[in-house]
Amino acid sequence: MVDVLVIGGGNAALCAALMAREAGASVLLLERSPREWRGGNSQHTRNLRCMHDAPQDVLVEAYSEEEFWQDLLKVTGGKTNEELARMAIRASSTCRPWMVRHGVRFQPSLSGALHTARTNAFFMGGGKALVNAYYRSAEALGVQVRYDSPVQHIELREGEFVAAWTGSAGSQERIEARTCVLAAGGFESNREWLREAWGVDEHGDHPADNFLIRGTRYNTGELLRFMLDAGADAVGDATQAHMVAIDARAPLYDGGICTRIDCVSLGVVVNRQARRFYDEGEDFWPKRYAIWGRLVAKQPGQIAYSIIDAKAVGRFMPPVFPGVRADTLPELARALKLDESTFMQTVVAYNAACRPGQFDHTRLDDCRTEGLTPAKTHWARPLDTPPFYGYPVRPGITFTYLGLKVDKASRVHFGGRPSRNLFVAGEMMAGNVLGQGYTAGVGMSIGTAFGRIAGTQAAAAAGFTQQEAALAHA
Ligand SMILES: Cc1cc2nc3c(=O)[nH]c(=O)nc-3n(C[C@H](O)[C@H](O)[C@H](O)COP(=O)(O)OP(=O)(O)OC[C@H]3O[C@@H](n4cnc5c(N)ncnc54)[C@H](O)[C@@H]3O)c2cc1C
Repeated sequence: MVDVLVIGGGNAALCAALMAREAGASVLLLERSPREWRGGNSQHTRNLRCMHDAPQDVLVEAYSEEEFWQDLLKVTGGKTNEELARMAIRASSTCRPWMVRHGVRFQPSLSGALHTARTNAFFMGGGKALVNAYYRSAEALGVQVRYDSPVQHIELREGEFVAAWTGSAGSQERIEARTCVLAAGGFESNREWLREAWGVDEHGDHPADNFLIRGTRYNTGELLRFMLDAGADAVGDATQAHMVAIDARAPLYDGGICTRIDCVSLGVVVNRQARRFYDEGEDFWPKRYAIWGRLVAKQPGQIAYSIIDAKAVGRFMPPVFPGVRADTLPELARALKLDESTFMQTVVAYNAACRPGQFDHTRLDDCRTEGLTPAKTHWARPLDTPPFYGYPVRPGITFTYLGLKVDKASRVHFGGRPSRNLFVAGEMMAGNVLGQGYTAGVGMSIGTAFGRIAGTQAAAAAGFTQQEAALAHA
């Protein structure tokens, strides 16, 4: 019988598998996807948010525990577990040498990458390279990896893991293990579940039908559903998710980072009625980009248009699809099929409300509107310099926050009691820290911290102590 069974094949699963194996446990990892698509959403990532008290290789200045915590507190509106959040924050300051040992390489933040040189360490080659490095290292250490291995359900006895069932309808296989780590992602790719969670809006639409899934098609949440039905303690709410405004022309799955539209704070955003609906300049884009998917989800038809003029070009990461271009604003309205007169009223009112200021996109500058609702509180400059561009945007769901409640040891709980041998990591428990909102790079901070904890704890529960794990890291 294998010591530690890891279910999932992304960052959290790989961190758990590596830690358990380093502690001396035998490890089997079951990845639902074929080999070519391995790595879940983690393959799309670019960076990790890291606490550091002084400049470190690719990170400039300092980013203290307190500042990281305050950032998290702000974006979550207090819907976070401080003890677990601080664990993830502290772990982010020490995990990188371990990551490097397993082949991950870092690079300084790219220009246009959301002012992140101080807070986020970028993976050289992106998440795909990170995932590949971890798989290589895991295989070299003797972790068994099986692809095309979806786990449909597990057997539990009084809150303890007994076995997992994998395979397709015709050929089911039962796999026993001493302990198990669940790291099978959220349910963002399950369109039925999203539909059920989001219901019908005031316009009579199912908003979720218009969502695009930014990452893997394999995170359908069947294990999460199974665990919730089996009485595991839940955290979070099914409608809370990391949701970004992405190009409406993006594919349904795996559009990844290049479909994100990052020019919101440089212009205005209007809905299909050609009206603005939110302060585009509320805060720095890394602290706000993840609310825009949700904001667009609440608009009629779940579509909006990010409008900029020539002054914004070159100041944001260029998306994969070019913007719709026009030499005049009325022409742009027509090209975007927006009502021309409402669009012009919106833009003229916005332009007139912009107060002169010193434009500076690297700080919360004094360029703001006056007497306009909703206000634009920073980086407000008139849209007056042709050519003009419009990007149609839709809600792009990154990952869902409904998950399993954990404690410091990342144990699954049933009726408030921790399981002895069942652990969970990554998106499946990120809702403990992220009740709502997001700040760039924290998904990987949580997945890396709790993936490593879950792996260590699972190995310990199988008889391989943390002390041995610590020795393996000495
Ligand atoms: C486009 C994009 C960009 C992102 N950029 C960043 C970033 O730069 N920084 C950051 O911190 N976060 C980023 N994120 C979020 C980040 O991807 C997640 O927080 C993190 O990858 C979650 O890791 P995970 O291991 O929990 O899930 P995943 O990496 O999604 O892995 C889940 C795994 O479980 C497998 N699986 C699912 N169901 C089953 C089953 N029933 N049986 C077996 N296996 C199963 C899947 O195939 C997959 O391998 C990004 C996400 C996307 C989509």
